[in-house]
Amino acid sequence: MTDALWFDPSEMLIGGRWLRAAETLPLGNPSTGKTIAQIPRGQARDIDSAVAAAHQALSGDWGRMSALERGRILTRIGQMVLERVDELAELEALDVGKPLKQARADAVALARYCEFYGGAADKVHGETIPYLEGYTVYTLRQPHGVTGHIVPWNYPMQIIGRSVGAALTMGNACVLKPAEEACLTALAFARIAVDAGLPDGALNVVPGLGAEAGATLTAHPGIHHISFTGSVATGRLVQKSAGDNVVPVTLELGGKSPQLVFDDADVDAALPFLVNAGIQNAGQTCSAASRILVHRAIHDDVVARMAERYSALRVGAAMDDLDMGPLISARQKEIVESFLARADGLTIAAHGEIVPGTDPDGSYVRPTLLSGVTPDHSLAQQEIFGPVQVVIPFESEAEAVQIANGTDYGLVAGVWTRDGARQMRLARDLRAGQVFINNYGAGGGVELPFGGIGKSGHGREKGFEALYGFSQLKTVAAHHG
Ligand code: NDP
Repeated sequence: MTDALWFDPSEMLIGGRWLRAAETLPLGNPSTGKTIAQIPRGQARDIDSAVAAAHQALSGDWGRMSALERGRILTRIGQMVLERVDELAELEALDVGKPLKQARADAVALARYCEFYGGAADKVHGETIPYLEGYTVYTLRQPHGVTGHIVPWNYPMQIIGRSVGAALTMGNACVLKPAEEACLTALAFARIAVDAGLPDGALNVVPGLGAEAGATLTAHPGIHHISFTGSVATGRLVQKSAGDNVVPVTLELGGKSPQLVFDDADVDAALPFLVNAGIQNAGQTCSAASRILVHRAIHDDVVARMAERYSALRVGAAMDDLDMGPLISARQKEIVESFLARADGLTIAAHGEIVPGTDPDGSYVRPTLLSGVTPDHSLAQQEIFGPVQVVIPFESEAEAVQIANGTDYGLVAGVWTRDGARQMRLARDLRAGQVFINNYGAGGGVELPFGGIGKSGHGREKGFEALYGFSQLKTVAAHHG
């Protein structure tokens, strides 16, 4: 076991108790390919116990707690996360392979979610509705009950912050199934939450395989809401399970997000965003800018300048804190390489460098910039989930919008132009849950509602919007004459 581990990762949290599962699974370090820990292989019976514990929490202290008190606990969790940012960053770097500074930013974001939602807990109000003479009508926002959270491996801390943070704030009791490939920070977060005074059963964490623990959780009749982030294929299965039990589901399924660069753009300002949004977390980001659409008049110049930046990118072990780390696993590396094998006929504008001395057993790939790509090419249509960006030229605003909207996805989009009227037209016309004008990502603000259109999913997380999603509205009509 690695020195960075300050707790036993083979234990799961159910009903406030740290328990062992009947079996364990090996957890790998993608920078070295070596096993760093054993984690629980949660089974159906563990999910049953976790759901039962969550129900018990709702009928106990947690269910009776005031919004103010819930908010205080969330805020306290946020403060304790902040105190342990470096330890959490180290765990995430080991587990996910992301360079330390990126892992640190995720830990800070987790703290920020808890602070934001902690402060919001007592500020979600119902309303009174003017109605017929003799009636007083008002609405109440109440928790769904038990919420299931399926979290992927690419941004565990951020996704736990935005889904579990918001669900707890509204008084739900949560069962979290982190990804088997990255669950250390989920377990660490749970330890912090318990230390911060979260009542038993309000948060239960059961690691395990998607097809076992994950599928049992999403099909469980005791679950009242599901939040899922991951692939379209698994999202479909989750939605079917939600349909069988007739419970609401929030799906965040990634994308093929574009940045559009017009010939009046401030290219100097755009360049770092164009490249970083493609290689951050080795491209394993749902909102990665995997398509760069550039006006023909400046296309060659932008490609040359992006290529210059690509050639300077250095890839290595997460702990070496370079521009990029490894992919999450050998399997993900195979997926990305199979996409690159289809790049025949495309121009490789530039590669980054895997630094000498990098462990050959790590899951490293070179970041790759491809130009001369047509909008209908499979590399311009399908989510690669690796550090691969395609550059596509366009002639007019209408064509740029058509290409940008021309995939099955619609998560985010970025627009670079100095023309104010065009900014407004594109903000209206781009098919995406978030549109960024002369930036990309806006620093990832926890305040900003986030979610997709089309195959990118549905429902919104982050910001106040998530609090509406993790609650249901009850209308009370009192007749008093
Ligand atoms: P999955 O969608 O299969 O995994 C995401 C989460 O779902 C994990 O926690 C996984 O658990 C869980 N899961 C898997 N199967 C089931 C199931 N039947 N029922 C309930 N939960 C389940 O993605 P992969 O990890 O397999 O990655 C494959 C591709 O998915 C990537 O290449 C990428 O394109 C996309 N992806 C998108 C993400 C995004 O942020 N939108 C995040 C991750 C992946 P476990 O890992 O333990 O099996």
